[in-house]
Order: sequence, then C-alpha cells, then structure tokens
Amino acid sequence: MIDDSRPSVALVTGSSRGIGYGIARGLAAQGYHVVLNARDGEQLDASRRRLADECAEMETSGVIYSQPFDVTDPDAVRAAVSAIEAEIGPLSTLINNAGIMMRRELTQTALEQWDQALRTNLTGAFLVGTAVAPHMIARGRGKIVNIASVQSVLSRAGLGSYAAAKGALASLTRSMCVEWGQHNIQINAVAPGYILTDMTDQLRRDASFCAWLMNRAPARRWGTVEDVVGPVTWLCSPQSDFVNGQIVYVDGGLTAAV
Ligand code: NAP
Repeated sequence: MIDDSRPSVALVTGSSRGIGYGIARGLAAQGYHVVLNARDGEQLDASRRRLADECAEMETSGVIYSQPFDVTDPDAVRAAVSAIEAEIGPLSTLINNAGIMMRRELTQTALEQWDQALRTNLTGAFLVGTAVAPHMIARGRGKIVNIASVQSVLSRAGLGSYAAAKGALASLTRSMCVEWGQHNIQINAVAPGYILTDMTDQLRRDASFCAWLMNRAPARRWGTVEDVVGPVTWLCSPQSDFVNGQIVYVDGGLTAAV
C-alpha cells in the first residue's frame, strides 16, 4: 500500500546550479523532498544549504538532501538510489538533467570526447532511470522527466556529439514510456531552447550568435531557468497523468521557425 501521507521525494540529477537547481527549487516550493546531485560535492553542499534557506523563506515543507555521484558511474548510481530509497523515502519523481556540452566539430572530436558526451547526456539517463524504475514499477506509479534539447531535432556546427546524445535521449524517452507506461509511470522529455546558464555563458558573449538567435527565435529573447521550471513541474504533477512519451519543446518557438 502506498502511504500517501508521506511527502513525494524527487531526485534531480545535475542540480548544483543552472536548470537543475531551478527545477529542484520549483519542486521544493511545491512541498517535495528534493535530493540534489552533482559530481562536485563541495559545490553541491553549498547548493543544498542555499536551497534549504530558500525553502525556509518560502515556508515550504520540503526538505533538501544531497547525494554526490557521477551519473555515468553504474555502481555509484545504484548505491545512491538504494540509499535514497532506504534513508530518505520512496522516489516518486526523477529528473534526468545532468548534462555537458562540448563544442567541437566532428572531425576534431576524439573518441574519448564523443564517449564522454554520450555517457553523460544519454547513458546517465539510462543508468539512473533503470535504477529508479524498478522501485516505481513495484509501487505502480512514478514520474520521470528527461531534459533533452532543441538539439534533439536540430544541430549546429560544433554540436555533433551533443546533438547525437540529445537526439537519442528523446528516443530513449519514448522507449521508457513504451516499457514502463503500463505501470502508471509517465516519462516525458522537456527540450529547452537557449537558456541563460553557465553552459551558455560563452555563447551569450558571441555577438553573431546572439544576432542569429534574436532573428530566428519567435520569442526574440534568451530563455531563463524559470521558463523551464513550469513545464517540468507540470509534467511531475497529476495534471499531466495522460501525457506520456512526449518531447515538450520549451524554446520560445525556435523549433517552429525556419
Ligand atoms: P550547467 O549549468 O552546466 O549545469 C550542469 C549540472 O550538471 C551541474 O550541476 C553539474 O555539476 C552537473 N553534472 C555534469 N555532469 C555530471 C555528471 N556526470 N554526473 C552528475 N552531475 C553532472 O548546465 P545547464 O545549462 O543547467 O543544463 C542542464 C541540462 O539542460 C543539461 O542536460 C543540458 O544539456 C540541458 N540543456 C541546457 C540548455 C541551455 O541553454 N542551458 C539548453 C537545452 C538543454 P558537476 O559539474 O559538479 O557534476
């Protein structure tokens, strides 16, 4: 029997900063107990303290935890998910957000760099997803949101490994839905456009890129972390229980334009 009096526990990978931190804050504001994750334990602990302070200000009941691990390390992933389930509570929600972007043309990309891009942006979601899903299947419910990208369907020179990984992540989202949807688990992807975070810091300083973006994106602006949080929290809520296997583009219309 599911004990509905217990608060929902959400794991957000790659949440020491940027989009992941924003999603964690959005879920915490709704009363989730949130587990932050990243590789750098020191930065992660600072983020945990910061979010706990923000929760106190927001007067939410959500408690903030942290689990430092590398999403590409299968043993570390298994150990972390087991520890969360045993010590914090049953995971109702997983956000596969950890990602890296390397800008290098394909002919300049070493195999190790290609592997790293795929391991972080794609294999990480497979490893964490398959560690969490059996627990959700046993309970007969769960929400998983994979953070894809407009590069799941578009590409730019220099983004070959990233676009390949994000394209495959969209495909993995559909496969998770096909296999786990029957157990009342909803698995969707949110695919952001260009969002202001550390990852896009260099791009923001590139005048010709900014001119291209302002001309191409119907919204005529960069996205903010908050732009991504609403769609993700909706996909974690009962309001989206019949939405499954979908890729939701949060891009100011970028993928609608030619
Ligand atoms: P960010 O500011 O660079 O943050 C990335 C986060 O992921 C950090 O917390 C980082 O911490 C963590 N991380 C990286 N590799 C990890 C690993 N192997 N294991 C665990 N944690 C790891 O990036 P962001 O812009 O917020 O992007 C978040 C997600 O959104 C990514 O999947 C990205 O591809 C996607 N996205 C971003 C944009 C954008 O415009 N910013 C657009 C579309 C999609 P550590 O380095 O300490 O591990």
